Amino acid sequence: MFGVVPKALWSRAYQSDENNLINLSLRSLVVETDGRVILFDTGWGDKQDKKFFRHVYLNGGEGLINGLKTRGYEPDDITDVFLTHLHADHCGGAVKNLSGSNNYGLTFPKATIHVSEAQWKWAVKNNLREADSFLSENILPLGEKGKLNLVKEEQELFPGINIMICYGHTPGLMIPFIRYNGKTLVYTGDLIPTAAHIPLIWNMSYDIESLKTIEEKQKLLNEALNNGYIFVFQHDEHIECCDLEMTTKGIRAKNSFDFSEVI
Ligand SMILES: [Zn+2]
Repeated sequence: MFGVVPKALWSRAYQSDENNLINLSLRSLVVETDGRVILFDTGWGDKQDKKFFRHVYLNGGEGLINGLKTRGYEPDDITDVFLTHLHADHCGGAVKNLSGSNNYGLTFPKATIHVSEAQWKWAVKNNLREADSFLSENILPLGEKGKLNLVKEEQELFPGINIMICYGHTPGLMIPFIRYNGKTLVYTGDLIPTAAHIPLIWNMSYDIESLKTIEEKQKLLNEALNNGYIFVFQHDEHIECCDLEMTTKGIRAKNSFDFSEVI
């Protein structure tokens, strides 16, 4: 998760265990706007077998469906699923196992699925580097059974929700900017997965093009600092949200707070 940054440095910013493992959350968001109920990313899901998960160590959390239920939503209530990208830990929960082998169905049957056209084409074609993240059982059923909206360019995709499209982590990663009660919340996805990834060169080795990630982060960090945006982290187990300040080392988190304090 920290690429070439030495453990002596990153372990001060994000706690690990004796096997170098760190706990990450798979935090999804639900936003209601314009009569829609939009779900942003869907976590791993549970379609793969034990062997697949032997290096993943899924633990804790409420689970996607249970988490939605706790907040008053059933799968049929979701009108739109927004997938930042198609890596397994972001889109897996959108497709579920039905009875019988290789028989898959949509977890949110009424939802339109929004994914960038660049990411869709890239993931369907697949490549050796990302093959363990682009799983056909997560992706192909979306195209076969789902209502897909392939997003071509940066735009206001829903009322109050603009998107930025990035190419460093994987081509076509979509980052939503959500305007709410006079604030702008940025769901930073895999561009800035945890607060520890705010420094420009603290990036994941999963990134396809590191220099592009640095450029895209710089653009987002400057815009966010200048406009007082709030970051919402998808993968940070400890810090849900933060605002930003300029320091002698560059842009850094200023205050950390829980999502419940933002809404
Ligand atoms: Zn990713």
